[in-house]
Amino acid sequence: METKYIFVTGGVVSSLGKGIISASLARLLLARGYKVTIQKFDPYINVDPGTLNPYEHGECYVTADGHETDLDLGHYERFTDIRTSRANSVTTGRIYQTVINKERHGDYLGKTVQIIPHITDEIKRNVKFLGSTGEYDFVITEIGGTVGDIESLPFIESVRQLRWELGQNCCCIHLTYVPYIKAAKELKTKPTQHSVKQLQEVGIQPDILVLRTEKELPADMRRKVALFCNVSPESVIQSIDVPTIYEVPLTMHAQKLDELVLTKTGMTVSGEPDLAKWNHYLEKLHNADKVVKIGLVGKYVQLQDAYKSINEALFQSATYCDHKLDLRYISSEKLHDGNVDDVLRDLDGVVVAPGFGQRGIEGKFVALRWCREHDVPTFGICLGMQCMVIEFARNVLGLEEANSTEMDHKTPHNVIDLMEEQKTISNLGGTMRLGEYVCRFEPDSRAAKAYGATDVKERHRHRYEFNNNYRERFEQAGMKCVGENPATHLVEVVEIPDHRWYVGTQYHPEYSSTVLSPHPLFMDFMRAAIKFQENNN
Ligand code: GLN
Repeated sequence: METKYIFVTGGVVSSLGKGIISASLARLLLARGYKVTIQKFDPYINVDPGTLNPYEHGECYVTADGHETDLDLGHYERFTDIRTSRANSVTTGRIYQTVINKERHGDYLGKTVQIIPHITDEIKRNVKFLGSTGEYDFVITEIGGTVGDIESLPFIESVRQLRWELGQNCCCIHLTYVPYIKAAKELKTKPTQHSVKQLQEVGIQPDILVLRTEKELPADMRRKVALFCNVSPESVIQSIDVPTIYEVPLTMHAQKLDELVLTKTGMTVSGEPDLAKWNHYLEKLHNADKVVKIGLVGKYVQLQDAYKSINEALFQSATYCDHKLDLRYISSEKLHDGNVDDVLRDLDGVVVAPGFGQRGIEGKFVALRWCREHDVPTFGICLGMQCMVIEFARNVLGLEEANSTEMDHKTPHNVIDLMEEQKTISNLGGTMRLGEYVCRFEPDSRAAKAYGATDVKERHRHRYEFNNNYRERFEQAGMKCVGENPATHLVEVVEIPDHRWYVGTQYHPEYSSTVLSPHPLFMDFMRAAIKFQENNN
């Protein structure tokens, strides 16, 4: 079949969950046997989100091929189990960079380079790139930002042009918000009407409207929206708040979003999507009656999106262990010897988060010392693993001023240090150790047993590394380097085998945990936390 292109735009306000709708639609189409991918186009000028503070757009998600992307790509992978790549995440910055490079190279043969057609052509080329590989029946494209924003205009214009070019192989879904005015006890559709008008002004008639709402939309209200917005009433779908985002595929299917997309793109609808495994997960989620309490120690505690993939990986593993997750965010900046006991005492497990820079670092050491001394299941991820190493060096090896050269470049004990090849790099964008690398385990390590394998591939995003000059001293004192890259001997995983569960990974396992295949290390950590809780009771 010819590749079908589905565009998802948003109006009224941002943060409506275009990513979740796109991912849910993808899940439904996959469950009908189609090959699907999802891509995100972000209107900001940053070439990629790697240099953004997590407070701006939440976590930076890393693809297996080593591209730093928007956190929506994490949703795509968690919902679909399909790997994304550099091609699935495009920003205005990248589009302009390519066009400007071509201009410098003389590729435009003396022509004036303009937004239309040069920028829009480059956008269109990127939109169609994954489709042109022949690997996908459906390419879902989410356009970041809100319709009416100045910066998203070139993207919207490209969608308008593509609609003409693609004819029936194209379908536009527009997501809007229906606010509930408490004082009047009324739902209001006017913002939706305005938002659709705005789309129509730039030449796009949406095929399907998805209305985010906190309350049930009455049928006559949907008819009214349909009438004002030039769509059929059954093409007005409500996306009502649900207890978990993983129910959204079901609420979308109940309103036939998948069937609508198929008919609008000229396909015949037959049978039902196979959602057996998905439903099994949801059943576990609903039936879980016990609670597991996990603390996440980090510095971005005001914004939960900053640790999105870790949250989801913990959530999935708790669910598969038939427990509800009680996740407590613990600000590493506020943690000190005086309060650590109170804060951590009733937790079943502790995760020490990734991060950059000095802020909040001492609190991570305080947490780790407490966890190590109290033998609480503890999981250190990236900077969290590096902190495990530093804390152990200071308090077990007696190397008082041990540190990472990221925090103290004059430390006499650089147990974590910059990789040799990083020392000459001054550019910040895309220059870390990024993407998948092989990790080889000691066969009898906790990690190897958790994975059921000795060679695995996991995704990285860091500049600093365990300093192998100290390896022997750590191992003699009980912290083992159980995983390393076979080519470079860089240490990937440390453990204290004498402990219940004390494991640190230089890589980020959370990026590859999905709804249908939860990550083995998170599963193992969660089992250990639950066992610890049971022992304590
Ligand atoms: N700041 C550390 C480094 O660059 C850890 C990075 C991270 O936690 N992702 O090595």
